[in-house]
Amino acid sequence: MFHGVALSTMTAPQHDVIIVGAGFGGIGSAIQFTRLGFENILILDREDDLGGTWHVNRYPGLAVDVPSPTFSFWFEPNPNWSKLYAPGSELKQYALDVADKYDIRRFMRFNTTVEGATWDEDASMWQVTLADGETLTTRFLMCATGFLSQPAAPDIPGLEDFEGHIVHTARWDDEYDFTGKRAAMIGTGSTAVQVIPELAPVIGDLTVYQRTPMWVMPKLDLPIPAAMREVFRRVPATQRAVRWVTDVTQEILMLIAMWKYRRFRALNDSAKKLAALFRFAQVRDRGIRQALTPSYDYGCKRPTVSNDYYRAFGRDNVHLETAGIDHIERDGIVTRDGRKTPVDVLLLATGYDVWEKNLPAIEVIGREGRNLGKWWRDTAFQAYEGVSMPYFPNFLNSAGPYSWVGLSWFTTVECQMRHISRLFGEVSRRGARTFEVTESANSRFYDEMTTRIADSVFALGNCASSRSYWFNSKGETPLFRPTSVREAVTAQDTFALSDYTFTDG
Ligand code: NAP
Repeated sequence: MFHGVALSTMTAPQHDVIIVGAGFGGIGSAIQFTRLGFENILILDREDDLGGTWHVNRYPGLAVDVPSPTFSFWFEPNPNWSKLYAPGSELKQYALDVADKYDIRRFMRFNTTVEGATWDEDASMWQVTLADGETLTTRFLMCATGFLSQPAAPDIPGLEDFEGHIVHTARWDDEYDFTGKRAAMIGTGSTAVQVIPELAPVIGDLTVYQRTPMWVMPKLDLPIPAAMREVFRRVPATQRAVRWVTDVTQEILMLIAMWKYRRFRALNDSAKKLAALFRFAQVRDRGIRQALTPSYDYGCKRPTVSNDYYRAFGRDNVHLETAGIDHIERDGIVTRDGRKTPVDVLLLATGYDVWEKNLPAIEVIGREGRNLGKWWRDTAFQAYEGVSMPYFPNFLNSAGPYSWVGLSWFTTVECQMRHISRLFGEVSRRGARTFEVTESANSRFYDEMTTRIADSVFALGNCASSRSYWFNSKGETPLFRPTSVREAVTAQDTFALSDYTFTDG
């Protein structure tokens, strides 16, 4: 049992903690809360099972594009990955296994959409409103909805008039038979790069509508043989050693190539040269090769890895279209130069709404009626250590401004688990009723992050043509924490507790 305030002296909320989202962010947070002694936890998720992204996404070719030893909880290494870049189904299984091992599923309620939450000042609790009208109360609220949870449809005229089949990659249609069909793929982001090589051999004809080319690097797509998996199982240190290599590689890509761009621009340029060599080796047609070449710097937009994406454009039935879409008609797509391509199925690999619908993913009203989304938009996207905001007591937001540490989502989640550990340890020690980050701590952290971003590829590189979702409409890049993983971890373990105010129980 968590030893906080004596709730008998006031109206008790129904729950000690409500977590919105049953993906890895929600699972990790719940594990941390149970370690701290919380038992009255409720995890709400709009889907019908846990796993977040890895439950929802099941398109062909789905796999991680960060090496799996790195793309997992440090405290829960998984010896079962079949490949260095594990398929999506193994991530979903990993989520199930972790939730079972830490007995987290018992807290989960599915098919439940949260609309908003309002801080009740008098009762010192959150009122959480569900889509069906029900209201729940909780002492602490954690929004763990991730960055990529609101699929985006393209704003192309005529989309609603299309009479063929439409599939968004985040809502894959398992029933639809693509064999022999004429398809159009809109988008060439990380998802399209994975789907296109899988569909190309079965589909009749595939036209890929590219607006902005991606930086695509070779993929060290090594299988992990059963014998090696057995070694990982018996001698976990061996898997730790592999993880050390994959962690360091990821860290170099982020810390040096992106955050330290001012000093290490040459490394960034080397990445571009390697990618150019790779394109040259894989794409024979010069015109197609040029069309696939980004005009912005490496790291402005999420780069990806694939050994068969470029090759797909060498097939007779795969066409790269760069003329730009003018509009969609009931049976096809018309490009800006007036050409029409008849289409049976429209594949939308158009990504996610990261800014408008997701920051925050639910409406959050804090102290004195402060609306989190409005405040962020009126001032700046800001959150102390990426998780807490002044005027929002007893609330943490996991996919917030400056929260994303490194390229692995797990690093972010584990940093937040450390933050929870230190913060709630203090709440418990004091028997506090509420915590709230101070305005000065929040401003100090914001200033530090924005100062550091000034050295990054985002600020100094040529990103103008990247159309990267890492930038918001004001040209700011407040998703990432532009520090090393080590700095981020240390900060969570040592932040000044005086950066928070606590009220007594
Ligand atoms: P994305 O990177 O946002 O790509 C969306 C694509 O759709 C872009 O090519 C975009 O073009 C295009 N698009 C959007 N609206 C359009 C319009 N109106 N007309 C024409 N084209 C349009 O989305 P994503 O590929 O789904 O990837 C999102 C993120 O998911 C990735 O960055 C990554 O973080 C994650 N992801 C991870 C993995 C993994 O293995 N871990 C796999 C897949 C995805 P513009 O670029 O011109 O805007």
